[in-house]
Amino acid sequence: MSTAQTPVAPVAQKNAEVALKDRGNLFEIATKQIEKAMKLINMEPDIAQIIGQPKNELIVNFPVRRDNGRIEMFKGYRVQHNNILGPYKGGMRYHHEANLDEMKALASWMTYKSALHEIPFGGGKGGIKFDPRQYSKTELERITRRFTAALGTNIGPDHDIPAPDVNTNSQTMVWMMDTYMNIAGASDRNTVRGVVTGKSVSAGGSHGRAEATGQGVVHCITEWAKDTGFNLDGCHVIIQGFGNVGSYAARLLSQKGAVILGVGDVGGYIANSEGINPHKLGEHVHKSGSVAGYKGASKITREEFFALDAHIFVPAALELEVGVAEAKALKVKMMVEGANGPTYPEAEEILLEKGIAVIPDILCNSGGVIVSYYEWLQNKRAEQWEMADVLGRLERRMKQTYQNVRQYALAQKTDWRTASYAIGLERLQHVYKERGIFP
Ligand code: NAD
Repeated sequence: MSTAQTPVAPVAQKNAEVALKDRGNLFEIATKQIEKAMKLINMEPDIAQIIGQPKNELIVNFPVRRDNGRIEMFKGYRVQHNNILGPYKGGMRYHHEANLDEMKALASWMTYKSALHEIPFGGGKGGIKFDPRQYSKTELERITRRFTAALGTNIGPDHDIPAPDVNTNSQTMVWMMDTYMNIAGASDRNTVRGVVTGKSVSAGGSHGRAEATGQGVVHCITEWAKDTGFNLDGCHVIIQGFGNVGSYAARLLSQKGAVILGVGDVGGYIANSEGINPHKLGEHVHKSGSVAGYKGASKITREEFFALDAHIFVPAALELEVGVAEAKALKVKMMVEGANGPTYPEAEEILLEKGIAVIPDILCNSGGVIVSYYEWLQNKRAEQWEMADVLGRLERRMKQTYQNVRQYALAQKTDWRTASYAIGLERLQHVYKERGIFP
């Protein structure tokens, strides 16, 4: 069993799916990461204390009728970490191992991510503890609607704005929006459309939101390649997780000539030295729910996946997937964290010692929250921006923040994760100093 102190990598274990509860306390790991940046900027202890805990931690238990007529109780979470820069903002995750500590860590990362990218949002995260694969579409709709009703006015377009995350998508967001609109009442119905982002375009979502996170990951890879003189055309990529983030990253990287050498997800791992076609793999995953069984590649083990001869690794599954053993096994030149918190601090040290560039989550997986911000603005103004406009804005912002972090890390002689946190923390500290606390 692995713990926060001794992150025995899941790779050393036979079972591909290691229970999250066995991976160490995610909030403790998040706190450890942030403390390094707090020290670097000499953060005032009083402000560090405020930021060190979420403002609100909400747990709701609610009943839902199953298709067979029986009633089942569900546990939902919403953690609101900080809102000094704007409304709480962050995803809703459906996962059988969802827990409060995980939500606290994920919510805090949203605060730092928004601050780093100068988006006027705070940080939040939530979800429901259940395995959505075991439920029908009509059950998922009832669960989502009842959860939204249970949260009530704890969410809202100017208060706390959910978005899709693991095992949720635009359909989930549209159900949430519709439920919230009906609770809001007839005269306010159309002013609360921005209560969630990541909606379908037809229901008021933004063009470009679906691919935004994968696109942001690829912008960071492109900038890194430009800065280091690396040729993406023909380079080898491995991707863990082939959901929203992983599949779009794969498609966009292959457009740049990159070869997708290996892919893994909850169902298993596959590889093909000639390259995997991400579009065909996407069709297979759409039908079967996993990359496993895809005919255009061979089945490999998780250990073999991490040891593949690749240049770029994109973790885009769950947190804490890269432990010491994975870090030792990886042969890549760079790792770009599409997932939130995929890397143990001890593993990151090994990666950096090996000279592997680590582009941290709050820098590179922020495309989703950036385009969510554009979606929220469009809803407020009752506008629909063109795809090229959205993607152009996203590219400029991602590349600008990337260069800010690069320069900060060089100037301070620190790693990019610490630099990213430090920039965000400086913004938060500045505002706290100006505003003070109430009363
Ligand atoms: P998703 O549900 O669309 O996909 C998750 C993928 O991870 C699936 O391919 C799934 O099979 C795989 N996976 C799950 N458990 C696994 C395991 N034990 N081993 C290997 N693979 C496993 O979710 P997503 O939206 O793509 O999110 C992926 C990561 O990216 C999460 O960490 C999420 O918080 C982060 N993220 C998502 C967004 C977004 O806009 N969706 C934005 C920022 C960060």
